[in-house]
Amino acid sequence: MDAEVIVVGAGPTGLMLAGELALAGVRVRIVERRDSPQRHSRALTLHPRSVEVLDQRGLAGTFLSQGKPVPGWHFAGLPTRLNFAALDGRHGYTLFLAQAQTERLLTEWVRGLGVPISRGAAVTGVSQDADGVAVTVGDTVLRAMYAVGCDGGRSVVREAAGIEFPGTDETLTGLLGDFAVVDASTLGRAESGGVLAVPLGDGTTRFVAVDPQRMREPSSTPVTLDEFRASLLRVCGTDFGVAEPRWLSRFGNATRLAARYRAGRVLLAGDAAHIHFPAAGQGLNTGLQDAANLGWKLAAAVHGWAPDGLLDTYHDERHPVGAAVTANTEVQTLLLELTLVGQYERPATALRTLLDDLLGIDVVNRRIAGAVSALDTRYGTSAEPLIGARMPDVALTSHASVYELLRGGSFALLTLTNAGPATGEVANWAGRVVLGATSAGSHPALAGVTEILVRPDGHVAWLSRDDQPASERTNALTVWAGEPASSTVKTTRGG
Ligand SMILES: Cc1cc2nc3c(=O)[nH]c(=O)nc-3n(C[C@H](O)[C@H](O)[C@H](O)COP(=O)(O)OP(=O)(O)OC[C@H]3O[C@@H](n4cnc5c(N)ncnc54)[C@H](O)[C@@H]3O)c2cc1C
Repeated sequence: MDAEVIVVGAGPTGLMLAGELALAGVRVRIVERRDSPQRHSRALTLHPRSVEVLDQRGLAGTFLSQGKPVPGWHFAGLPTRLNFAALDGRHGYTLFLAQAQTERLLTEWVRGLGVPISRGAAVTGVSQDADGVAVTVGDTVLRAMYAVGCDGGRSVVREAAGIEFPGTDETLTGLLGDFAVVDASTLGRAESGGVLAVPLGDGTTRFVAVDPQRMREPSSTPVTLDEFRASLLRVCGTDFGVAEPRWLSRFGNATRLAARYRAGRVLLAGDAAHIHFPAAGQGLNTGLQDAANLGWKLAAAVHGWAPDGLLDTYHDERHPVGAAVTANTEVQTLLLELTLVGQYERPATALRTLLDDLLGIDVVNRRIAGAVSALDTRYGTSAEPLIGARMPDVALTSHASVYELLRGGSFALLTLTNAGPATGEVANWAGRVVLGATSAGSHPALAGVTEILVRPDGHVAWLSRDDQPASERTNALTVWAGEPASSTVKTTRGG
């Protein structure tokens, strides 16, 4: 066997997943079509939940040192900003960081964890049988227990696994250009034309524009400098003096969501599972969070302790998130498109004004900010609101914080009764569960909670609100972290 898991694609999703798997002790290998890392950056944003996910692995400091936090964010380009700072979290901002940098930092992380990355290795086929998968790269067939397609929107893995990708083709395209030369004195005119103009920190300035006269051009049509200048002139009344393009590209609003995120031993994550218009910058973020959800579950399956059905919860939990993200980007794109189509311009502008007013209402702003930041992502439908939600990063008496305790990628069992970490039979899950303690009432959301089990991805698996019998905790550990290492512990399923 060449590896226990083969990750196809060294984009942000594949790198994050490979890191999660390696951290959990899985032999993982990345195969990547490109000979060298991608120089150009599509994405520029890491939203709050992504920064938290990185924080849970001790990586946030490195990313923060390279990026620029910007307060709040936009929805559909509406003037009233989403107030991420009002949400419950330590990272109430969007971290501006070019995708190439994100990939570079993640590559350093996975290399440090000993993950081999085979470059110039295009996967052409994947098959599976009861024992494992066979991944074809040129004349070579690599064998593993599982394969994960993190190979982007045109995923070969998805195709090979026979997973349908329903959705809609593109109807609208935008222009993207990175220019070494711009007339900085004109940049203030970008916003009024609805054009994004932002310095990338590498001496170039990124322009993103949707020009009503060019928005029906297919994304496959190459972009020329003359076309870009003409579009900027039409939309903003100036071409901003753009010259010396480093990258010109056209992107579209094709929107698709994989019907299944898992087909036996083959799984999908990131753009391989969902594509959409890059409205509010959510694609890369969603991919990182797919990886955080999948990594520990797949590791549990590889190590043989995954409880029944655990791996299937990856689809159950992340497919609805993909559906919600594709839906909100469609809403944003429709709003943009209507504004640009002459006959709808007036009512569409009125609709934008109405929505902008609504965004000024705190509760509405929080709702949309919670979705775009992904801080409100909650798995499952428990009547207990904390279950499935992300664990707040409270300070612990035993460790600096919950996120520090999660750095090794294990479950965390926290005692909140001032009694110190749990002992006794919990030792049977040593290696899968780490223990911590905090004082009662360390966070408003935890009022009345006496014990809490946090998953490796930082979501709450189980909690106890009063002196429940120890068997409840035993059941929760078994349901989530598998059978105890010692057979002396008796458990009842379904707890
Ligand atoms: C204009 C634009 C702006 C965007 N801005 C943002 C933003 O601000 N924020 C945000 O969150 N998202 C943004 N996105 C979306 C974001 O870029 C993607 O969601 C993100 O790149 C997805 O990461 P991924 O790793 O899943 O896939 P990709 O980045 O597509 O990586 C896939 C990798 O797989 C490799 N590969 C493909 N086929 C094979 C094969 N057969 N064998 C081996 N390797 C293969 C590729 O070479 C690539 O390295 C933007 C997108 C666009 C178009």
